[in-house]
Amino acid sequence: MRNAALIVAAGSGLRFGGRKQYASLGGVPLLRHAVAAFSAHPSIDAVQVMIGDGDDAEYSSAVDGLDVLAPVTGGASRQESVRLGLETFSKDPPENILIHDAARPFPSAKLIDGVIGALATAPGAIPALPVTDTLKRGSGDRISATVDRSDLWRAQTPQGFHFSKIFEAHRAAIGETMTDDAAIAEAGGLEVALVAGAEENFKVTTEGDLARAARAMTIGETRIGSGYDLHRLEAGDHVILCGVKIPFEKSLRGHSDADVALHALTDAILGSIGAGDIGQHFPPSDPAWAGKASEHFVRHALSILVAKGGALVNADVTIICEGPKIGPHRDQMVARLAEILDTSPTRISVKATTTEGVGVTGRGEGIAAQASVSVRLTLGV
Ligand code: MG
Repeated sequence: MRNAALIVAAGSGLRFGGRKQYASLGGVPLLRHAVAAFSAHPSIDAVQVMIGDGDDAEYSSAVDGLDVLAPVTGGASRQESVRLGLETFSKDPPENILIHDAARPFPSAKLIDGVIGALATAPGAIPALPVTDTLKRGSGDRISATVDRSDLWRAQTPQGFHFSKIFEAHRAAIGETMTDDAAIAEAGGLEVALVAGAEENFKVTTEGDLARAARAMTIGETRIGSGYDLHRLEAGDHVILCGVKIPFEKSLRGHSDADVALHALTDAILGSIGAGDIGQHFPPSDPAWAGKASEHFVRHALSILVAKGGALVNADVTIICEGPKIGPHRDQMVARLAEILDTSPTRISVKATTTEGVGVTGRGEGIAAQASVSVRLTLGV
């Protein structure tokens, strides 16, 4: 095993007034965000979460469907929980271990990559941000000194280490109290590299932080995707467009139900998150898709988006053909798309155009469709 993640979620959240790791953020428990970020990262081979005594049932439901190892009960302090977590890996040790606080919900893939990358040249690495505010030392309510901030950093997690080194350092530190794993590494004489941290990788400590995290999720980032498809017309008596069956003098040829509009839409959704294309997910050579309703493809693409913490904002589909006439079916198509995409019809647009008798669609040899979608992804994806 190359890289494993150890996520600490065993705290009682005294400053928060309850176990904050199970507080709701974006409709799911806070800890699920960090666990999902690591379990979805291609360079992380295993994710171990340390939980509080008696939290098993709540934890299981919080990480339902995520690829994680069975949880282990933590200790009386964060430091002890980490050491116990390292012990569980010691029988089959990974090369590197990344130790992360469950209360930081937005560790981006880039941030994780940065920490792993730095472990090639140092036995330890942490993400950190330079201190930008001027620092004052206080004496009561008066300033006693201004502190030079030029070489001061704010430490974040995940903190990465060569497993054998941090395991040894943690065992040597039993009985001492240190505030992070880097401090334990430092005490053990390990060199710890500083890599670029991120403001959005903040720690949820108070109710105010949780509100900030919720705001960050609503901001997130917007992406767009586009798709195009064309199917040939052949002898027949109907076509299916946007999931609606329309009587026509010809039919669309295709391996599935040949719904060219839904194929373009599927590609648009996949494109918005860089998840390949419809042919990759549903190879035309696979007999499983013969005659299949194309809404299946759209729903699959949408489920990939949702699994990444994303949501569809709107979809705009244009059907390009000389016939059939789309106008009379437009409302039904919009309603059908809203149903398939589990969204409001106000977020759906279906348009149609002819190509004035020119080209493949103009000669009635085929029907084409193009689709654009915009999606919102939460931070950290
Ligand atoms: Mg197609």
